[in-house]
Amino acid sequence: MANNKKINKKDMGGLLKEWSQEFTVFVPSKESGVATMSKWDGKDTGFIDWYRNTVKPAKANFFPPMEEMFSFQKDREGYHIELPASDEHKQLIFGIRPCDARSLAILDMTFTESYQDPYYLPKRNNAVLIGLGCLRPYDSCFCTSLGISPGESTDVDLMLTDIGDQFLVEEITQKGKELIARASQAEKATEADEARANEVKEAAYRKVTRRIDTEGIKDKLLAAFENQDYWEKVAAKCLSCGICTLLCPTCYCFDINDELVKRQGARFRSWDSCAFPIYTKMPMENPREEKWRRVRQKVCHKFEFYPMSFSTIACTGCGRCIRLCPVNWDITLTLDRLPS
Ligand code: SF4
Ligand code: SF4
Repeated sequence: MANNKKINKKDMGGLLKEWSQEFTVFVPSKESGVATMSKWDGKDTGFIDWYRNTVKPAKANFFPPMEEMFSFQKDREGYHIELPASDEHKQLIFGIRPCDARSLAILDMTFTESYQDPYYLPKRNNAVLIGLGCLRPYDSCFCTSLGISPGESTDVDLMLTDIGDQFLVEEITQKGKELIARASQAEKATEADEARANEVKEAAYRKVTRRIDTEGIKDKLLAAFENQDYWEKVAAKCLSCGICTLLCPTCYCFDINDELVKRQGARFRSWDSCAFPIYTKMPMENPREEKWRRVRQKVCHKFEFYPMSFSTIACTGCGRCIRLCPVNWDITLTLDRLPS
């Protein structure tokens, strides 16, 4: 018995328009030729054909590259601080891939566990995620090794699968169920539609051929931690450009800076990277001045330290750090070749 809904691709524009009444709708688009989640222009649904994944991950919608924390003014009595209005506008992100949806679930742990981040959480709590199964994974993708299927996700509100002229729509959360219940364009899916969706998902799963073995990875990294020779070899070609971390959907390091003109200014936080030599620079020392220590930190943070704190690996296998690296540094080879 079929339980899901379906929607014609040609009706997507109408549905996005309806959702735009209630939400700020974000869709994959090309800004200067680079795929990113941008505010929908109210017309274009061409991304349905060209979209594979965005370069800038959807974390930017909740944890922007640069964000004002507060503004301040100084007078004779001292500093006066003004907080920005809480950003509670309702975002609907259409087309998020299962790997990136998982990355938000991972970031949620970071931004809620030891403190409730007042900038991230209001945006996140007001967002709706509409997942779109990934049918053309890159050869750099290895999501299936991290328990993610390119065609399926429980980290979204609705999950869509391309079944030809239509999308099969699965209701994942109550929020998603209510949203699609109001959509005049949605109709009941048939058993044949569901069977087709299952075939599509299985085919997508088989297309992810790059793999890592995560069994015992935490202990292997712990054992190799002091192996300077290994980390020096691994780090040799890295340029310390930071791309692999800035564009990693689970990386969340930030720096804080004040901009001050005369007596008024603002404090900002902006993405930072453990790949940069000055990231750990302190007045008297820098514990990660050497490149191999920084590369080790990046790998161990995701596969050793994060699992120690949150019982989950902080990598989704999205492959961005491989395909966007200017020198083809490859985290899967680093993990594969760990000395035992
Ligand atoms: S993207 Fe490549 S070169 Fe740049 S810091 Fe990462 S590993 Fe190094
Ligand atoms: S470490 Fe690489 S593959 Fe893993 S989530 Fe980050 S960018 Fe994606």
